[in-house]
Amino acid sequence: MTDKYAVIGNPIAHSKSPLIHQMFAAQTGQDISYEAILVPLNGFRVKIEQLIKDHYKGCNVTVPFKFKAYLIANGVSSEVVDAIDSGADADAVNTLVFQNGEIIGYNTDGIGLVCDITQNLDFDIAGKRVLLMGAGGAAYGVAGPLLDQLPSELVVANRNLHKAEMFVKKIRGVPPNPESAVSVVRKSYPELMEEKFDIVINATSSSLSDEMPPLPPGIFADGALAYDMMYGKETLFMKFARENGAAIVTDGLGMLVEQAGEAFFIWRGIRPKTAPVIAALRGQQ
Ligand code: NDP
Repeated sequence: MTDKYAVIGNPIAHSKSPLIHQMFAAQTGQDISYEAILVPLNGFRVKIEQLIKDHYKGCNVTVPFKFKAYLIANGVSSEVVDAIDSGADADAVNTLVFQNGEIIGYNTDGIGLVCDITQNLDFDIAGKRVLLMGAGGAAYGVAGPLLDQLPSELVVANRNLHKAEMFVKKIRGVPPNPESAVSVVRKSYPELMEEKFDIVINATSSSLSDEMPPLPPGIFADGALAYDMMYGKETLFMKFARENGAAIVTDGLGMLVEQAGEAFFIWRGIRPKTAPVIAALRGQQ
């Protein structure tokens, strides 16, 4: 019998995840279906309950439900899951497994990003100064794996400074771990005026609405990598990076395929080949 999976989010129409998982399934001979489902902003918990009732084996979770997914996978009560809309004490989860009445949560975004940067783009993170823009589900998901690569410093910038503060506390551990090898600091966008970074990662959802964070033009150090997690189009951030000296500019398609590969492995126990899928999707752009 075909095993059912889905990606749920809002918006979801732009998602390439169904295509990617269909390619993985064809490549590995796995009998699965995978669809994209638009969920109303207040309908996350109800949709998860419905998927379980309909015998889905798992799902991916995208904007803006990753914190709710963490809570639901950690047994937090329905009222709290319905009420939360930011990090608070939560973390981000993008992959759920429905198994024997249990909901198990994973985050494969960080592995996907680090794999795309260090392996596909062959760009070292170790010793580099990294700017991570955003304090939403995507940023929470990638912070740990980024720090594991031992950059010289991780600076977090977000419009809403309270959210940035909570995020930085979360990354450093509360209270901050004095032995942590990597300095993690929070800055507002105006505070970035005189700063330069080797890696600038756009983990905001600004590109979804054709906007970009208010970055100063001198933000890119020599040889810098500009990484937009958005995929499928040339974003304002990517255009800005090309015009302002970034050496390598990329969208998040490689990350998307790598995080999907990891999710597929969690669900099916088989690791698909990601390179041909990235090449096929690039060919369609
Ligand atoms: P969330 O809704 O959880 O967070 C949105 C974040 O974006 C917040 O920090 C918000 O700041 C910030 N933001 C939104 N608009 C602007 C703007 N105009 N200027 C500056 N900051 C802005 O979204 P996610 O974190 O889940 O997703 C973020 C992006 O990452 C999406 O585009 C998503 O598609 C992409 N993504 C890509 C993946 C991939 O595999 N390639 C994987 C995961 C995500 P504030 O708090 O101030 O409102």
